[in-house]
Amino acid sequence: MPDVKPAPGGPDATYFAYLEAGDWRIQRCGACDTHIFQPRVMCPSCGSEDIQWVAPSGKGVVHSTTVIRRRPESGGDYNVCLVDLDEGVRMMSRVEGLDPTEVAIGMPVAARLAEQDGQKVVVFDPAAGGAS
Ligand SMILES: [Zn+2]
Repeated sequence: MPDVKPAPGGPDATYFAYLEAGDWRIQRCGACDTHIFQPRVMCPSCGSEDIQWVAPSGKGVVHSTTVIRRRPESGGDYNVCLVDLDEGVRMMSRVEGLDPTEVAIGMPVAARLAEQDGQKVVVFDPAAGGAS
């Protein structure tokens, strides 16, 4: 486990500190076991401040998808989607590895760390099997 300490900037900064270390973590409440994303200082479900940073399975399902049109010389069309992780949280990301118009609601996906503008980001690839 990388040596990542709680960052002074709060839970968002801690989230990105983990990512920069190549380690994607989301939060889980130690009191009620609810997974939490976006990062928070307190569990939105039960109010506990016993928040742990855990590695998600990386599996999820596309909840919604949008194709962003962009000139080919600027990189071409891309996809923005909301993914429901198996842990029960929803995050904004994109699905790579296929045409953006082929990303479908309900499609099982698997997370991967990528680099964008010098920063690590979580993106998704289509998953071969099922989501769970
Ligand atoms: Zn809780």
